[in-house]
Amino acid sequence: MAVTTVSRASTASSAVDQVKRDVSAVTRLLEAEGILDYSGHVSTRIPGRDVFVIQIGSASRAEVEPASMLVCDYDGKVLEGDGAPPVELPIHTEILKARPDVQSVLHSHMELAIAFTMMEGVKLVPMRARASRWKSGIPTDPDPSHIKLKEQGQALAKSLGPHHALLMRAHGLCLVAESVRALLVDAVHFKENATAQMQALQAGAKPMPLTDAEIAQIEKMEIRDWHIKKLWNYYTRKATKRGILPGEWNLVPSNEMMERD
Ligand SMILES: [Zn+2]
Repeated sequence: MAVTTVSRASTASSAVDQVKRDVSAVTRLLEAEGILDYSGHVSTRIPGRDVFVIQIGSASRAEVEPASMLVCDYDGKVLEGDGAPPVELPIHTEILKARPDVQSVLHSHMELAIAFTMMEGVKLVPMRARASRWKSGIPTDPDPSHIKLKEQGQALAKSLGPHHALLMRAHGLCLVAESVRALLVDAVHFKENATAQMQALQAGAKPMPLTDAEIAQIEKMEIRDWHIKKLWNYYTRKATKRGILPGEWNLVPSNEMMERD
């Protein structure tokens, strides 16, 4: 009986360690890709518990590690870890409460995303194939200030509604996904798509967003799980080689894991 208890406890703790490692890695990767900088943050739920992981607010996004991670409940109370969460914690608590389908939330001050909240008559739309992810729309929350209050977080979650991306007027963006690894992939593609639309605008052309028929065709050919695995393999390998991710975190998938079904 004692053996079972120990084994259950160690399985639970290794699951928490894995979540902390993944959030640390995704934060470093997003910083390396210019999507996070001195601010912005990633949160992810811990499976089977009503809690989530988020970094200590003051920890450098380029150097976060599992020890920089906090476990918080949905009231924003720190349950594990030594430090204060980011001041914009209500972004995460309120979106995670409002969206049971979401496992992971990114808040970033991506310049390109902000630009699309400051151009009259211009809306960010799906342009590139991978942006079919945002076919339901990319709304904008009107509050340009820091989201420090629960009420602001609730309003933000309402603006997000059922969508996967939200712009924040003159401030930044939020992305939501089914896992923290999927969130990394979405963030990379969100930036690519915003870049493509900006390039079309800067060329003086009228952007041609994907049509519904084109989106349907793209989705017919899409295997999201495989694509996430492929990009995770690419980014973790590249970053490990460059010393951005410690090799001992063991994040690079094995060759076996990369075999296609
Ligand atoms: Zn912010």
